[in-house]
Amino acid sequence: MSLLQVENLGKSFGGVKAVDGINFQLQAGELLALIGPNGAGKSTTFNMVNGQLRADRGSIRLDGTELVGLQPRQIWRLGVGRTFQIAATFSSLTVVENVQMALLSQDRKLFSLWAPAARHRRSDALDLLDRVGMAAQADRPCSVLAYGDVKRVELAVAMANNPKLLLMDEPTAGMAPKERNELMALTKKLVVERGIAVLFTEHSMDVVFAYADRMVVLARGRLIAEGRAEAIRNDPKVQEVYFGSGKTFERRGARAAQEQAA
Ligand code: ADP
Ligand code: MG
Repeated sequence: MSLLQVENLGKSFGGVKAVDGINFQLQAGELLALIGPNGAGKSTTFNMVNGQLRADRGSIRLDGTELVGLQPRQIWRLGVGRTFQIAATFSSLTVVENVQMALLSQDRKLFSLWAPAARHRRSDALDLLDRVGMAAQADRPCSVLAYGDVKRVELAVAMANNPKLLLMDEPTAGMAPKERNELMALTKKLVVERGIAVLFTEHSMDVVFAYADRMVVLARGRLIAEGRAEAIRNDPKVQEVYFGSGKTFERRGARAAQEQAA
């Protein structure tokens, strides 16, 4: 059985069918990119999975448990984590304190009568920071970190909650290409090490093709294609929604290279 099973999922806002009956599955240990033009329904899909929005129809099952109708906090307890766009960390706290806070809330989730463990969690927090390459900056306040480093801390915070499924809506927004690649390589490493599943959205097709195991393409609320990089790259429907007919990812790539060279 798949870790996540989405069936006939739908959500409308007034007359707009933001998500119009989509189906997809996600396995443990898999990095799945949800892509599509602006307004395709990506964020709406994310927010139904994490419980911020309630689906009008359909089903979202995690390990067989129905998530539709549950509160965000209940969904988080079942093991659905997410990273946020910046400011998810407390900038007045140090790097390690942020991770300790996350471990504390995880302890509360597991043992509600046994919270004082937080103090002892510094070494666990340092282990997590080590995994994301931030142990050396553990005692710096988050407010002084470079943007790419804040994102690494966010990833450590998300991992502290030991998710089965991690949702990342545009994790690399605002990052330079080098930082993007580093963050995605790190995410990929964590997915493999821990066997978690990641569902992410991303604007850069280079990043998507380089790191996603599989991709689901939405356009106007509908799923128009699903598969691995090669199949998606060559899919005429996908090329049509991205570039209009007659253009391809390859040509776009060549044009971008020319622009850089100029
Ligand atoms: P994406 O993340 O792929 O850019 P969204 O899921 O944000 O797309 O939006 C899908 C569609 O739903 C768009 O037409 C958008 O305008 C509409 N929409 C999204 N959220 C709301 C909302 N809270 N109220 C009204 N319309 C919304
Ligand atoms: Mg969006």
